[in-house]
Amino acid sequence: MKRCVKCGIEKAASEFSKKKSSKDGLHSRCKACEKLYKEANKERYREQKKLYYEANKEQIREYAKLYNEANKERYREQRKLRYEANKERCREQMKLYREANKERYREHDKLRHAKESRRRDEIYIKARMKNGYTREEAVILRGIYKSTKRGEQNRDTCDQLFMAGLI
Ligand SMILES: [Zn+2]
Repeated sequence: MKRCVKCGIEKAASEFSKKKSSKDGLHSRCKACEKLYKEANKERYREQKKLYYEANKEQIREYAKLYNEANKERYREQRKLRYEANKERCREQMKLYREANKERYREHDKLRHAKESRRRDEIYIKARMKNGYTREEAVILRGIYKSTKRGEQNRDTCDQLFMAGLI
């Protein structure tokens, strides 16, 4: 048991947070009083922390870098374990998220497909142009090629039709 210097109530040791530098290894204020004190001085704490960070920025960053580097493997292991432990939950959440944002995903997919389609068009058109077609002709050929949906098999047919002046 220990008496808190702030509220004067005698409390169990577990009600005090640890402090290495003190004689009994505990804070003089109980946890409840400490919380109240911190709450009341929140702004001041924040300001102090900010000032400290500003003054020691370089050093803090350097230290963090070294620390992260030294603990890289451990971090990776932790991440893996965390992932393994939460895999099912993660998947479930992802599913719910997708479900909730279905429209947005669909829109995104549509844009992606349109972009891919344009890219393929361009490849086809460039290839036709290499074979001597003008861009306009190549665009027409691409349209026919796509509308037949049978792709490869109709490519030559398209070319033949075009060369025969039938399209
Ligand atoms: Zn207290």
